[in-house]
Amino acid sequence: MPRMHGKIAVVTGAGRGIGAAIARAFVAEGAEVLVTDINTAAAADMAAELGESASAMTLDVRDESQWQAVMDAVLQDYGRLDVLVNNAGITGFESGNARHDPEHAALEDWRAVHATNLDGVFLGCKHAIAAMRQNGAGAIINISSRSGLVGIPAAAAYASSKAAVRNHSKSVALYCAEQGLQIRCNSVHPAAILTPMWEPMLGTGEQRKQNMEAFVADCPMRRFGQPEEVAALVVLLASDEATYINGTELNIDGGMLAGSAASPARTNATG
Ligand code: NDP
Repeated sequence: MPRMHGKIAVVTGAGRGIGAAIARAFVAEGAEVLVTDINTAAAADMAAELGESASAMTLDVRDESQWQAVMDAVLQDYGRLDVLVNNAGITGFESGNARHDPEHAALEDWRAVHATNLDGVFLGCKHAIAAMRQNGAGAIINISSRSGLVGIPAAAAYASSKAAVRNHSKSVALYCAEQGLQIRCNSVHPAAILTPMWEPMLGTGEQRKQNMEAFVADCPMRRFGQPEEVAALVVLLASDEATYINGTELNIDGGMLAGSAASPARTNATG
């Protein structure tokens, strides 16, 4: 029996990268998947690739009315929601090279990162709980980051938003338990997963090779992870193999957080 046989799942930001890999893995394991993304064409292409077990809807996770429309469509078409993966996220660097450190980040940029990464997850959890309540059970998986567990000086809003996702996942898990619902909520903390998100930072040719080596220099496994490796963990959390895994956080980072590699380099260190 496939591990997600008959489950109804919504994945955000699933037009590419980790979200696309999760949607693919869900369908391969027998789920019906609603592929959502702010990019309408990317969501539609992904759903078409996945065949009759997938459909697509536009969803900007910052927009509550769009969340309502997605949940209405799921309940109308399938009668219930079993799994939500809050995957959509941005770093802040998509729109240029503005500084995102604690001293120089613009308030507007800080808010924009939190709007997608944190408000989007809040809205997703809120509307998923309401939809899953009809069945009394479900699984919510929030894609946080290694950056939600350590400070990232050059990407402070990203780190702050991902830390908040980690904590909110625990509030959701406890709230659902208080309500007597079998709705589990967990956070996943990837690091250095090779997706289009990295492209602006990698460059091309020989420089690309050097940049890639530098980015994984503090990874014990000395390589990027693959989106499929994250998807495998998400399948586990979404499946009935994980019915007692709740309110927890799971790192998927090649061992990075096993050591102290997040410590910043010092300039003019004397000892
Ligand atoms: P990608 O940038 O490759 O894909 C993200 C997708 O989300 C894109 O299709 C993007 O659309 C979409 N998106 C952006 N904003 C919104 C929005 N407001 N509403 C709905 N969809 C939106 O990212 P990854 O696959 O690499 O990352 C997926 C998640 O994993 C993110 O939360 C990220 O923070 C997290 N993560 C990734 C790591 C990595 O190394 N890749 C490491 C740690 C965490 P568009 O292209 O049109 O902007």
